[in-house]
Amino acid sequence: MVTEIQKKTLLQEACAVRERAYAPYSEYKVGAAILTGDGRIITGVNVENASYGLSICAERSAIFTAVAEGVREIVAVAICTSNVGSPCGACRQVMVEFAGDMPILLTDTQGNVRETTLHKLIPEYFGPGHLA
Ligand SMILES: [Zn+2]
Repeated sequence: MVTEIQKKTLLQEACAVRERAYAPYSEYKVGAAILTGDGRIITGVNVENASYGLSICAERSAIFTAVAEGVREIVAVAICTSNVGSPCGACRQVMVEFAGDMPILLTDTQGNVRETTLHKLIPEYFGPGHLA
């Protein structure tokens, strides 16, 4: 269960870290904050590269950082963009590896918020259970 206070904190953290995004090519800055199963918040930003295909999204940046810190369960994600953008397909797939049907909070720098869930964003996903 994710509390309203945790959601508000996640949204604030996502927009705060967004300022550190490295997006000189698209100029589409993204910040992500994930709430871990043990209550930590870990953030990430999109990092672009002159070789465009090497760029990484904020969501995956945050999740990979979390995994390196020992996290194996994610219970909520907040994403801050300029226009309440939704995560790309690659990030949705990475999220299902570490999460159940968790809240996904989308926001922008003006404070608009849209809440959805991971399973709404990626129904009928391919997950770890398919390999059992
Ligand atoms: Zn993505």
